[in-house]
Amino acid sequence: MSVIKHFINGETFLGSSKKTGKVYNPATGEETSEVNLASKMDVNLAVEKAKKAFQEWSNKPPVIRARVLFKFKELIEKNSDELTKLIVSEHGKVYDDAKGSLTRGLEVVEFACGIPHLLKGEFTENVGTDVDSWSTRQPLGVCAGITPFNFPAMVPMWMFPMAIACGNTFILKPSEKDPSCSLKLAQLFKEAGLPDGVFNVVNGDKEAVDALLTNKDVAAISFVGSTPIAKYIYENAAKNEKRVQALGGAKNHCVVMPDCDLDQAVNGLMGAAYGSAGERCMAQSVAVAVGNIGDQLVSKLLKKVEALKVGSGLDKSSEMGPLITKAHLEKVKGYVDLGVKEGAKLVVDGRNIKFQGFEKGFYIGGCLFDHVKPNMKIYKEEIFGPVLSIVRVNDFESAVKLVNDHEFGNGTSIYTRDGDVGRTYANKIKVGMVGVNIPIPVPMAFHSFGGWKRSLFGDQHMHGPEGVRFYTKLKTITSRWPSGLRTDPEFIMPTMK
Ligand code: NAD
Repeated sequence: MSVIKHFINGETFLGSSKKTGKVYNPATGEETSEVNLASKMDVNLAVEKAKKAFQEWSNKPPVIRARVLFKFKELIEKNSDELTKLIVSEHGKVYDDAKGSLTRGLEVVEFACGIPHLLKGEFTENVGTDVDSWSTRQPLGVCAGITPFNFPAMVPMWMFPMAIACGNTFILKPSEKDPSCSLKLAQLFKEAGLPDGVFNVVNGDKEAVDALLTNKDVAAISFVGSTPIAKYIYENAAKNEKRVQALGGAKNHCVVMPDCDLDQAVNGLMGAAYGSAGERCMAQSVAVAVGNIGDQLVSKLLKKVEALKVGSGLDKSSEMGPLITKAHLEKVKGYVDLGVKEGAKLVVDGRNIKFQGFEKGFYIGGCLFDHVKPNMKIYKEEIFGPVLSIVRVNDFESAVKLVNDHEFGNGTSIYTRDGDVGRTYANKIKVGMVGVNIPIPVPMAFHSFGGWKRSLFGDQHMHGPEGVRFYTKLKTITSRWPSGLRTDPEFIMPTMK
């Protein structure tokens, strides 16, 4: 069995710990490798190397850092097939979807290539007589990122290209369920000319995360994952005096208005609910049918969900792959069982899907519930599988209230032909990312990504302008060059006369 190691100070590194995790091919259910799980000592070594590398890297002119990023971008493009296959083999999602997610990560690298421009500060001549003032943004030091299993390339790439472009060094602790893509990215970054120690990958579980949270040389933590862990990271990073952004789980609603183009809404929902087997933080897991649209919506969805092509991610005809692990498959099936017990109507049941040759794969077919009520657990909790719940409400105001009352606020969308309704929804809804006739409103790399309420703890979103702010601290310099002027001591607040 091959062992997946760490990448510290420019080299693959087998940690001191004997602890390992299992990595599977979800399409076949086979264990394909073991991943070495770092001890506290291994993490501390990575931090030490990153701290040392910071001294030189932070002093490099931004334009020199940008040139390394340009080269990195080229290498990702050149190796995109291999990177995509690594995602498919450990995560399970279908090839084209995996490739799309890699591209969304690559776009952050492209944005980060503009770092000389992004780091330009502000200058005011004569804030006082012959006094000038300017602001500059400086890197923080060693930054760390802890990422989830569902986007093994894209989510890490929301973080490290921005942090490194800003002059920081970085330690990535990817999900132990699909770690290989991060290691390949680290090797490519080195090949692009990144000095050793600037980007490190440490595989691990809670022990590694706690080591990052308590190491005094880690200045900032970026986290993406489930809400309970996001809250833990937020509280403990703050307790240890670190800057922190912690993105959590979601339950995204798609509001379907009676006046909408229903075929557009149905197609949008199909991709948003069942793409990547629902294992997306921006998946639409609730459709809110407003007024009398419910029956038509259900009958159109039903046919499409039943026709979904489920299969291996490497099979070009598959529309939806397996789930990440057997345990996760059981959890999702458990939610479907629960929904039936809670009294929702299971219109399409994907629980018993089987394929010849892939009997041990972690598959579930698309599931569709109608008449889901807000007090049911299947409505309140994140299922993170291909399960779409339909909630029926009488009017637009009830739809807005439903969405605003939910504890999560990551993404949402509305389908309507009425501009006033679309605009009012975008304005009133308490959610971080909103789509109008757009099923998955994931912001591009030059905007920033993040939710509201219990979908994000902290105050900066990821990548884009917020990414630059998170990975730098502001300094404001005020200067005067008096010649011959002698001033008496002043004991009052200086003000302009
Ligand atoms: P997870 O919270 O289980 O794991 C995320 C990371 O935290 C992993 O690196 C894991 O090793 C680590 N971790 C797990 N348990 C820990 C513990 N007890 N102490 C310390 N660290 C721990 O999440 P997951 O199952 O990998 O990913 C799915 C979740 O991520 C979903 O809830 C999904 O909504 C969320 N997600 C959110 C976003 C977003 O942008 N808001 C994006 C992608 C995924």
